Amino acid sequence: MELNERAELDTSQANDLGRGSGGSGGGFGIPIPGGGGRGGIIGIVVAVLVALLGGGFGLNAMTNGDEGGQAGGTDLEQLCSTANPERLDDARCRNLLYVNSIQDYWKKAYPELGRSDYEVTTTNFFQAAVNTGCGQADSGVGPFYCPADRKVYIDLSFYDELASRFGAKGEFAQPYVLAHEYGHHVQNLLGTNAKAGQGDQSGPRSASVRLELQADCYAGAWARHATESKDKTGQQPLFKSITEADINQAIDAAEAIGDDSIQERSGGRVNPDQFTHGTSEQRKRWFNQGYDRGDPKTCDTFGTDQL
Ligand SMILES: [Zn+2]
Repeated sequence: MELNERAELDTSQANDLGRGSGGSGGGFGIPIPGGGGRGGIIGIVVAVLVALLGGGFGLNAMTNGDEGGQAGGTDLEQLCSTANPERLDDARCRNLLYVNSIQDYWKKAYPELGRSDYEVTTTNFFQAAVNTGCGQADSGVGPFYCPADRKVYIDLSFYDELASRFGAKGEFAQPYVLAHEYGHHVQNLLGTNAKAGQGDQSGPRSASVRLELQADCYAGAWARHATESKDKTGQQPLFKSITEADINQAIDAAEAIGDDSIQERSGGRVNPDQFTHGTSEQRKRWFNQGYDRGDPKTCDTFGTDQL
């Protein structure tokens, strides 16, 4: 992949929140049904959060804490401007470029789904912990989309984890992760999210698995069209090139974070009843479906028996 060093990035599409505090140390397990107090709140919070990963990380750090705060974010407008010749060496600017590309794609593709205008939203980079419309989260939850405030959240150190713990080392894993989260944003705008929230939240044919595989398929559809995406001025492409090797890196990442692989890696046996995101084979296949067809209309994971 080659990024276009002349591209003007739309810095309004991402924020660097810096380091949050007060998020960790709660240690609440996720499956606390009801129970009152903070446990009850966690249940609600998790129900509306759509993360990239299944049980591997344990969503153990969403609380309703309003303590703590953010500090030390960087102004991306300066950091990622064309005046800074080193900007594309910075992961924040590269990820901003990916976000710009993904949303430029959806501005065109969303109306094809029969809806009016796509609503642009921001990605928040954070470190350690962050306050969101879905409650407070720490990095342990992995990247996620919060439907309540319609924003994507990611601690960029997650990519190190993806490389070291999951073996997905390629740079193109990064735009795949973001495109998956923006897939959830599209689902939220379409109402797919809310509908799926009423279905089963785990199991091989659950609404949760269908939602996640569709987000992977949407990521593939973006990847197919990524080199067509334009910068803020509409004049410059954001990517100069994307190779087959890049696409394979996205596929490797999708495969690495299948429910079955995560369960195996964490030393347990594979338990389909606890699937929330789909198997490695399914995640890979649905990404490919989106990539091969290049059309989000072919991502109908809710209308098929062939999950
Ligand atoms: Zn997801």
